[in-house]
Amino acid sequence: MTIERPSVAIWDPEHECMHVAALRELQRERLKRIVRRLWTNVPYYRQKMQVVGITPSDIRTIEDIHKLPFTTKDDLRLCFPYEAFAAPLEKVVRIHASSGTTGKPTVVGYTRKDMETWTELCARFLVAGGLTSNDIVHIAFSYGLFTGGFGLHYGAERVGAAVIPVSSGRTERQIMIMKDFGSTALVCTPSYAIYLAEVVQNLGVARSDLALRLGFFGGEFWTDQMRREIQDEMLIFATDNYGLSEIIGPGVSGECAYQDGMHIFEDHFYPELIDPDTCQPVDARRGGELVLTTLTKEAIPLVRYRTRDICTLNPEPCPCGRTGVRMSKLSGRSDDMLIIRGVNVFPSQVEEVLLEVKGTLPHYQLVVERCGALDRLEVHVEVSGEFFADEMKQLHEMERTIERKLENMLGLRPVVKLVEPKSLERSEGKAKRVLDKRKDMAP
Ligand SMILES: [Zn+2]
Repeated sequence: MTIERPSVAIWDPEHECMHVAALRELQRERLKRIVRRLWTNVPYYRQKMQVVGITPSDIRTIEDIHKLPFTTKDDLRLCFPYEAFAAPLEKVVRIHASSGTTGKPTVVGYTRKDMETWTELCARFLVAGGLTSNDIVHIAFSYGLFTGGFGLHYGAERVGAAVIPVSSGRTERQIMIMKDFGSTALVCTPSYAIYLAEVVQNLGVARSDLALRLGFFGGEFWTDQMRREIQDEMLIFATDNYGLSEIIGPGVSGECAYQDGMHIFEDHFYPELIDPDTCQPVDARRGGELVLTTLTKEAIPLVRYRTRDICTLNPEPCPCGRTGVRMSKLSGRSDDMLIIRGVNVFPSQVEEVLLEVKGTLPHYQLVVERCGALDRLEVHVEVSGEFFADEMKQLHEMERTIERKLENMLGLRPVVKLVEPKSLERSEGKAKRVLDKRKDMAP
């Protein structure tokens, strides 16, 4: 069975294929309006502008955005819960929050118009990835404070597809529903898709019993090898989409049928790339931290929000006809980036190597410890059952092979330990790839 590439379809050609000059003019107008809105309604941001000595009248062109101060997650924490809102609560119709690993969550709100924008943007990337009104969409994202489930839910309904709000967890039940209800499109995190494929196999469900043809994956970073694996195992056309609750949730960008980068919906979000250390602009092709400005959000507009996500931007025209700049898959988060003995290490690099090694499963964990003055990286990797039954000698050989490959990729040699299938913690949402024990040892 081969995977069919969906034909090009565009949900909102007027905006998605806008001529670049017209797009810049629209962005300029919208930026001016959003800055004025913040100045008038959000004392916290007005103060930040006053500190650097600018007023809304200093923002005349889109390049003037560089004069504006960045917004960070810490700013949002300081504004907890509603101080960053630029609309009164009576105008807010929805509240979501993103989980913080420490302390309070970040609270975000939507006005009725924000909900309409969000729904339209999710419809855009769903159609870009091949969704039609004939599809049955199986949403395995959790429904709750997390924006993923609801965003895709409303977007798919807008397209006219039939939505099954399965939510996360209870994997065997997920597969039963997929089979019985004839789900044609799967929505979840990429790591959960791989887990689902594994369980489908374990349950002895024949792939021909499932009607799946499309997959929309987001919520965490993944590699192209992982995409190939999902496509091969599940026989679905898999596209990547991106968003974060602070900005709007899913719907910031999404891939088209060419699977070559996610088109940013630039009529609503203005992207910049910066060096995370110096905060200076970097060459879009070399990559850096993505910074986003919401151009139309009413409830909680954010200017120059530092996403901490690392990617590149490709401004070349895309054969699909959309003009929005394409962002690459994320190569990691600037917070997740580990610095080990002076070398930058992203979990995604380890994943790329493992996907090339036969017998390893895409379940792994990086454990960093400090031994004396030196940092030590251990990579724990699950191997498939038949490999684990092999002789000790063969397992050791495999460990050495992976160590060599990782050394080539990373520029430092880690210690690789193969572990039994299913011995690393399984996640039904985001995978926990890094255990940095150095943090616990800090004075
Ligand atoms: Zn395209």
